[in-house]
Amino acid sequence: MTAATNARPIRTRFAPSPTGFLHLGGARTALYCWAFARHFGGDFILRVEDTDVARSTPEAVQAILDGMQWLGLEPDEGPFYQMQRMDRYREVIEQLLASGHAYHCYSSPEEVQAMREAAMARGAKPRYDGTWRPEDGKPLPPVPTDRKPVVRFRNPELGVTSWNDLVKGVISVRNDELDDLVIARTDGTPTYNFCVVVDDWDMQISHVLRGDDHVNNTPRQINILQALGADIPAYGHLPMILGPDGQKLSKRHGAVSVMMYEQAGYLPEAMINYLARLGWSHADDEIFSRQDLVQWFDGQSLSRSPAQWDPKKLNWVNAHYIKQADNEWLAIDIAKRLSGLGADPEAVDLARAIGLFKERCETLQDLAKACLLFCGPTPQPEPELVEKHITEAARQAVQTFWAGSHSIEWRADEISQLIKTTLAAHHLKMPQLAIPLRLIVAGTPQTPAIDAVLELMGHERVGQRLRAFGLVT
Ligand code: GLU
Repeated sequence: MTAATNARPIRTRFAPSPTGFLHLGGARTALYCWAFARHFGGDFILRVEDTDVARSTPEAVQAILDGMQWLGLEPDEGPFYQMQRMDRYREVIEQLLASGHAYHCYSSPEEVQAMREAAMARGAKPRYDGTWRPEDGKPLPPVPTDRKPVVRFRNPELGVTSWNDLVKGVISVRNDELDDLVIARTDGTPTYNFCVVVDDWDMQISHVLRGDDHVNNTPRQINILQALGADIPAYGHLPMILGPDGQKLSKRHGAVSVMMYEQAGYLPEAMINYLARLGWSHADDEIFSRQDLVQWFDGQSLSRSPAQWDPKKLNWVNAHYIKQADNEWLAIDIAKRLSGLGADPEAVDLARAIGLFKERCETLQDLAKACLLFCGPTPQPEPELVEKHITEAARQAVQTFWAGSHSIEWRADEISQLIKTTLAAHHLKMPQLAIPLRLIVAGTPQTPAIDAVLELMGHERVGQRLRAFGLVT
C-alpha cells in the first residue's frame, strides 16, 4: 500500500522511548515521518512511549522535545504519553478478552521457560505451548488460586501475515511462527507491543515509519489490529545508521545526540538536509531545502541498505548553509557562543567579523572561535613562528607602518595603501610584513585579508597588540 493508493487521511507518528537523548537514528525517523505527513498534507503525531518506567526519565522526554524543536519538527498532535493512557489499554484488553481474541494464562514463568526449552529440544522455535489457550472441546487446567494470570493474545494459527513494506518490499511471516503474545502482565499492566497497537489504532495512524529493529513486531501488531477490526497502517522499516567504520552508530563514534550537534555548531537546516539524505534520495540532489524535502518526500526512494554516517559530508553540508546564511542572523548565535567562550561579543561588529570568516568555517563553533580574534584575549603566536617571521627587518617595517597609521583613515583601502608604501620603503615583499602583522594581532600566519582584519579590529586594539608585543610604545 502506498500513500497514493491509501484512501485514509495521512497520519504518521514518531514514537520515541524516552530513555536517553534524541539520537541521530531517532531524529531521522522523526524527520521522515514529519516530511511524509507534510508532503501529503497530513498530520504528524508525537507519542512518547514511556511505559518502561525504570528507564524513562523526564529529562529524556525534554531532550526529545528540545531536539525536535531545534530541528523544527513540530508535531500537529501530541506529545501523547503512554503512561497517561493506561485505562484505555486496560479497556481494550477487556474487549479482546470478551471477544475471545485474548485469554488468561496461568502458566508460571518457570513453566513457560520449560515449554520453550522443550520446543527447542524438538528443533522447533521456542514458544508458549498453548496450555491455557481456549479451544473448542479442549478442557483447560484448573485455575490455580495462588497466582495471577497474564493475558495472552490469541494469535491466528493458520495463514500468513504479510505487508508491503515501504522500504523492504513484501514481508510475509507464517502465523504458526508467532507466539501467543503476552499483552498484559500479572499486575495488569499492558506490554509494549500492545500499547503501540492501541495507540496506532486510536490515533488513526495511516503510515508507520520506524527503525527496522521493529520488523519482528510488525506481524504481531498487525494480527492484534486485525482482531480489533482496526485499519492496518502501511509500514516502512528504515535500515539502521552505521558509523564511518561500518559498525552500528554509537557513542563511540562521537556525538550521537542531536543536541550535541547544536552545541558543536551545526545549523538545523544542515542537519535536516544531511539526515534526509541518509537513507533517502531524490535524483542526485545533495543540497536541498526543507521545502524541497517536503515536496519530494513521498515514501519512495527509501534506501534498503544501511546508511553510513559521514562526518565530513555533514561538515560540507553545514559549511554550505553557514556560507548562505545572513551575517546578522548568524551573529545572534555567534554572540552567544562568544559569551560562552568568555569573550565580549559587543567588542566587535560581529556581522562583519562573520563575513570575513564564514567561508572558512565548517561549524558555528569554529566561526565563533575565529571571531574571538576581535574580542577575545590577545593571541600568543608560537615562538618558532615569531623567530622565523618577525625578523629585524619586519620589526622596523611594522614600526613604520604603525607610525604612518596615525595619519590615515582606519579603513581597509587606506590600510592597504599604507602597507604598500611601507613595503616599498623597506624593500620588502607583501608576506614579509603581512605575516608578522598577522602573527602579532591574530597569533597565526593565516587570516582573511590583512587590511580587512586590521580595519575591523580597530586602530586602538591593533595598537594594544603591537604594544603588548613590545614593538611600539
Ligand atoms: N518506541 C519505539 C522506539 O523508540 C518505537 C516504536 C514504534 O515506532 O513503533 O524504538
